[in-house]
Amino acid sequence: MDEPRTHAVMLTPAGRGAVASVLVQGAEATELVSRFFFAASGRDLVSFPTRRIVFGRWGGDVGEEVVVCRRRVDEIEIHGHGGEAAVGAILDSLKSVGCEIVSWQEWSERQARHGDRDRFKAQALVALSQARTERTAAILLDQYQGALRREFENARQAMTAGETQRAEQMLRDMLQWSELGRHLVEPFRVVLAGRPNVGKSSLINALVGYTRALVYDQPGTTRDVVSAQTALAGWPVELSDTAGLRETADPLEAVGVARTHERLATADLVVLVFDASQPWTVVDDGLCRDWGSAVVVHNKSDLMGRPSFVCEKPPGIWTSTVTGEGIRELELALAERLTPRVPAAGAAVPFLREHIVAIEGALEAIATGKANEASAALAREVSSDATFRGEKSA
Ligand code: GDP
Repeated sequence: MDEPRTHAVMLTPAGRGAVASVLVQGAEATELVSRFFFAASGRDLVSFPTRRIVFGRWGGDVGEEVVVCRRRVDEIEIHGHGGEAAVGAILDSLKSVGCEIVSWQEWSERQARHGDRDRFKAQALVALSQARTERTAAILLDQYQGALRREFENARQAMTAGETQRAEQMLRDMLQWSELGRHLVEPFRVVLAGRPNVGKSSLINALVGYTRALVYDQPGTTRDVVSAQTALAGWPVELSDTAGLRETADPLEAVGVARTHERLATADLVVLVFDASQPWTVVDDGLCRDWGSAVVVHNKSDLMGRPSFVCEKPPGIWTSTVTGEGIRELELALAERLTPRVPAAGAAVPFLREHIVAIEGALEAIATGKANEASAALAREVSSDATFRGEKSA
């Protein structure tokens, strides 16, 4: 495989920090950095032994102060003032002389390829950095520690040994977590829908635990979709309120209604919210029919009018954002609907689209009697030369 081009990566997170660090790796590292780095002592960078910390300026006398350390001849660290401008200038100048600038995610994957050659591990590392909850991080940590790779390898070995059924079962077991796997990084999208003024925004506030969504007194007040991110029972969730589902002649409000339908269609879970203090209507019935798989919530239970109202309503969760009744029950019900089952500790959970494609591809090959193809596909996944996402066409 060709040596990669000399490249630079920003190792410190974006934003203002005291120090920003850039790593330059590759055969031309010393040469490229030397074009911009001028040691305070006036000596050439190449004359310093490796691992020596050298103070100087980036871009000559008036340039930014930086500290440079050649860890190896082909690996140089540059530490400068924090903030995006200073580090941006360093990367720009390196880019201008042909150095490739790579994101830290891409860099981690490359490290894995040239290091222990385990791309699942590198992918899990990137995903871990984006995990929002401990619960999702724990599952990703299992993958980082080899759960997914091992299971791919086990399935491959089973195929090679002619145990097709066993391999198929392993693949299916992994596939059952694909939805959950996708949401280890990306939050589940839960949309609260219902007529205006039933308390959707108030419910989001109650679930999130702080006032985020705006609460309006005027029914049908036109506004944009409001959303808030939170964790429900440890799963990352984006809750969005909607502008209401009422048919309307008001064009502005109609835009809101159209957007509501769009969000409902792409939601992982829909919550239909009704006002418990109001009689049940045919429109409410229609909503329940249209969104048969939705979680039904009767809000404002503190204002519940005639007891007969209760009988005429469909089963659901009774909540009050005023007294807090039912909020915890709602949280648990939503979590249960989003992840009815949870993988055991150490289970293999595919967490990227490409993992799922690979598993489905192998299953398809097994189903069509192409055992060799399935073995080859699995071998490719765990092979040390496996190409990386985004580099497949290279
Ligand atoms: P949305 O239009 O469905 O988002 O409704 P809002 O959350 O804006 O609430 C509409 C009105 O109902 C506001 O005045 C809230 O304070 C009130 N409200 C919301 N939930 C409850 C509840 O559980 N009990 C009572 N009594 N009032 C509520």
